[in-house]
Amino acid sequence: MPVAGRKQPPVAVEKEEAVVTSTISGREWELPGMWNRMFEPRVLRDYGSKGFAEVIKHPGAESLEWCYGCAKCVPVCPVDVVGEYGPRKIHRKVQTGMDLFSSPDLWLCTTCANCLRVCPKEVNMVNIMPAAREVAVGEGKVPNELQDVFEKTFRYGNALGENPRRRHAWTKDAGVPVRVLPSDPSPVDVLFYVEDYWSYHPRGKQAAQAFARIATAAGLDFAILGPEEKTLGDSQRLAGEKGLFESLMEDVAATLSKYDFTRIVTPDPHGFNALKKHYPRYGHTYEVEHYTQTLAPLVDKLSFPKAIDKKVTFHDPCYLGRHNGEYDAPRTLLAAIPGLDLVEMGRCKQNGYCCGGGGGGMWLDGFTANYTNERLSERRVREAAETGAEILAVCCPYEVSRFEDAAKSTGNEHLKVVDIVELLDYAMGGPSSIGAAVGS
Ligand code: SF4
Ligand code: SF4
Repeated sequence: MPVAGRKQPPVAVEKEEAVVTSTISGREWELPGMWNRMFEPRVLRDYGSKGFAEVIKHPGAESLEWCYGCAKCVPVCPVDVVGEYGPRKIHRKVQTGMDLFSSPDLWLCTTCANCLRVCPKEVNMVNIMPAAREVAVGEGKVPNELQDVFEKTFRYGNALGENPRRRHAWTKDAGVPVRVLPSDPSPVDVLFYVEDYWSYHPRGKQAAQAFARIATAAGLDFAILGPEEKTLGDSQRLAGEKGLFESLMEDVAATLSKYDFTRIVTPDPHGFNALKKHYPRYGHTYEVEHYTQTLAPLVDKLSFPKAIDKKVTFHDPCYLGRHNGEYDAPRTLLAAIPGLDLVEMGRCKQNGYCCGGGGGGMWLDGFTANYTNERLSERRVREAAETGAEILAVCCPYEVSRFEDAAKSTGNEHLKVVDIVELLDYAMGGPSSIGAAVGS
């Protein structure tokens, strides 16, 4: 047993010699004591289990205790790259007395799942963090900026606190008619679930308009919910507001039950993840696609009269790639654009870096700045710039604003951040707003 942390000499508990019998030949072998000696297990330090007990009693958080300290997770954790983090470090801190529910560490994980990809013990931060955050939310220990988003989502059904009646204001300037189901509820093939940032953010609205033009050109029968749409709430769930997520889900499911559609198509990997993996757990099952998956099989039907003679790199969204296994559809779309030269970043596909927006990180930049030496989005933009690319292509609505800000703050303004749908629209000759980015 440990004595003031000093190693103790081993205590032999078996005989000095032993005879073993071969299971093959039946012959007996004498083994000298140096081979057969057994020792009392030695413990160098002893730790109480109270810290773990407090965490793992919450459903979803059980696996925090399974860590055996191999440290595979630390070098792949995007937060550790810009600070001190990773499941092993969290495990160790809880073991040595940290109260996870009151620690800033509770809010730094973006639930990107890169640690889970490499962990031999399946320590699952994607489940642990929301479970622990739910406790903190219940106790009112939430960073102010996140609390603000929870309240806006509760009141307005979107994280930006925008007027629900203006959800489909973007359709006026799309250049093509966009059917709004509450006004025209006849059956439709594609229910285009626009989500918050493509509905309200200025750059997102341009992307939504581009999608509408491409979908029309491809002959897709599509419509939107307009003022009846509410956020699918996956990031709020991961940030610890499970109750809000469930209430949104019931509203969304009730709305969807009013209309006759074949599949849901969304630009938001977080909403896609919610519909694909979490809504079915509550009995709400839909056929769902990310917009890149909808458009990739249609590229042969589209014509691209304009080339984009640029070097382009692509950022895999964690919730499309690692969480849902889709790496090819975005690349198929980029490959279809004439002139476009795709260069990959060192960290891509399964090992793609995180933009910092997942798991509620989208709304925690001010908070996390106190605990990291740069934003994850800044780190990613520097990696993109190092490839020599002129354009950073994305396909998650969170990323355009995150990476545009990061390009400015890291002095990489020459790197233009553009959604794939805008690149497609431009190449198809659409009235795209990205002329400056592609140099025309
Ligand atoms: S990879 Fe898993 S087992 Fe290894 S240190 Fe990290 S959390 Fe622990
Ligand atoms: S989920 Fe991502 S951010 Fe969170 S600990 Fe794992 S690797 Fe780090």
